[in-house]
Amino acid sequence: MSNTLHSHLWALTRGYRHRFAAAVAAMALASLLLLSVPLIAKYALDVVMEDGLASGIPLLATMAAALTPEHPLLGYLSLSGVLVVLVTLGAGVFHYFRGRLTATASEALIRRLRTGVHAHVEHLPAVWHDRMDTGDVVQRCSSDVETLRVFFSGDLVEIGRALILVAVLLPLMFWLDWALALVAVALMPVIFACAWVFFRRVQFVFKATDEAEAELTACLQENLTGIRVVRAFSRQPFEMERFGGYNAAFRNRYQRLISLMAVFWSGSDLLCSAQIGLVLIVGGSFVADGRLTVGDLFAFLTWVAMVIWPVRQLGRILTDAGKASVSLVRLAEVLDAAVEEQVRSGSPDTPPARPASAGAAPVAGRGAIEARGLTFAYPGGSPVLQNLSFRVNPGQTLGIVGPPGSGKSTLVRLLLGFYDPPPGTLLIDDVPIERVDRASLRDQLAVVLQEPFLYSRSLEENLRIGREDADPALLTTSMDDAALTETVAAFPEGLATRIGERGVNLSGGQRQRLALARALLRRPAVLILDDSLSAVDAHTEVHVLERLARRRGRQTTLIVAHRLSAVRDADQILVLGEGRLLQQGRHHELAAAAGPYRELCRQQGLLDDDDDEDVTVWRVGDED
Ligand code: ADP
Repeated sequence: MSNTLHSHLWALTRGYRHRFAAAVAAMALASLLLLSVPLIAKYALDVVMEDGLASGIPLLATMAAALTPEHPLLGYLSLSGVLVVLVTLGAGVFHYFRGRLTATASEALIRRLRTGVHAHVEHLPAVWHDRMDTGDVVQRCSSDVETLRVFFSGDLVEIGRALILVAVLLPLMFWLDWALALVAVALMPVIFACAWVFFRRVQFVFKATDEAEAELTACLQENLTGIRVVRAFSRQPFEMERFGGYNAAFRNRYQRLISLMAVFWSGSDLLCSAQIGLVLIVGGSFVADGRLTVGDLFAFLTWVAMVIWPVRQLGRILTDAGKASVSLVRLAEVLDAAVEEQVRSGSPDTPPARPASAGAAPVAGRGAIEARGLTFAYPGGSPVLQNLSFRVNPGQTLGIVGPPGSGKSTLVRLLLGFYDPPPGTLLIDDVPIERVDRASLRDQLAVVLQEPFLYSRSLEENLRIGREDADPALLTTSMDDAALTETVAAFPEGLATRIGERGVNLSGGQRQRLALARALLRRPAVLILDDSLSAVDAHTEVHVLERLARRRGRQTTLIVAHRLSAVRDADQILVLGEGRLLQQGRHHELAAAAGPYRELCRQQGLLDDDDDEDVTVWRVGDED
């Protein structure tokens, strides 16, 4: 196990190790008590079949002689019976404590792990999330954690029990009769090895079955979320056939798993019976020779039966331990990934274990943005922004237009600090963005995306995200500015209306306006609209733009848009094409000059017909 894995395991079990140790101790005591039952029975049998009370446990024999002098044999047997009940009761109490201790320790530990992994994932940089498959991350946070839970809540103590049983039983059996002891353990290594090899081999069948189930679920989920597409294209027969295929694959794999398990359990049953049979044959002949008593043979047979089950289980448990260590490695990979603040600057949000790096400055909150020869490529890709230079003064409005893929959203992501531009090429309030504290950066910037993410909660909760304590008057103004007031009033429960899967569905435009109101409520220094008025009608767009214009001078606004109507009043417009700055200026200047902007104006009917004559046709790229 690598050092980092060791340290993760150590950190994970911190504060709970003594509980697990106590659970193993309780388990050991319970097992020891249960092991003594065959011994009590052995002496009882000896008393009956050998030399009377002289062959019994001295203390019980004395008590029997004193309590029932007329029927000492019966007295001894009754006392043995009572002792068996008491011992089993004691074992039950220890078992109870073992269960309680493991349950509380493992559940608390897993809760800590789950919270830790979730908190860590929330702080991982966008680059990490880009690289990882969402399904894989979900699997790590759910099934890998579950595998560890199963291990800590049961298997760990079971391993302790099997080892203790073997450690106590072996000397006990050798003490009674070394030769029979050797016979009694003869097949144990074979039983253990078979279980171990079988469960290791069968791992891939387990995995294949899990995968088949995951495929079946994914197919179902895809069908449900895309039900409209499925119907619109009359794809039901095809989808049903596809689902049937996955269903059959799952059944086949599951059947194979079950038949393999059946072979294993019946095969190992045979081995266990053979082991007991061996003890019976050899032990029986020892009894016939007078080397052993019937009681000794009884004790041997019971002990072998008692220890065979944990030994058989040990093979499975060790394989599970292997699975748990794989899960721990997968979780350690997540936990070892550097969190965002570690990648760059420090922030008040940073978990305490990761101190903020020196020099991170808070954003001044004026809203000045500047790019100086900004060139950027995603990790492992070619540049998507090339040598971009522009400046937006506080309170100004900047429009950004360009065909899809020209780098508009990338510029927004860089401003939000999701990716790192080359040092000194992007500045906020005249401070290079890499020197700016990230939490403060995001506090000053508010972004509205084209397809905003909304939670399945009430409208008000969605609006107040990040500003739970916002003043109701501010909420009203923000909703007014985003043209949301009437929409909300139309819902019977108003702001308390739930949205999403268990509530009302909002149209694309309503979602965009909700996200806009949410952003406005934050009173940001910089408001970024990333094509976020695309789904609202022209009338509402005018209303929103008018309201935004009133904030000029107080709030810097960046409007990324396909429709030029959204940017025509901007103080400055950037025209991007394949990551380069093709044109820069105000609407009337750009519309008057030959170039891609004028071509866009013509396509969108924003030019007068006589202006159309001298247009050089620019290929800007394919529009949506
Ligand atoms: P726009 O917003 O103008 O449509 P984007 O900024 O989204 O353009 O994309 C610019 C280019 O960057 C595209 O070629 C796109 O494929 C690429 N790109 C966008 N996001 C990523 C990413 N996370 N990883 C790698 N490449 C990306």
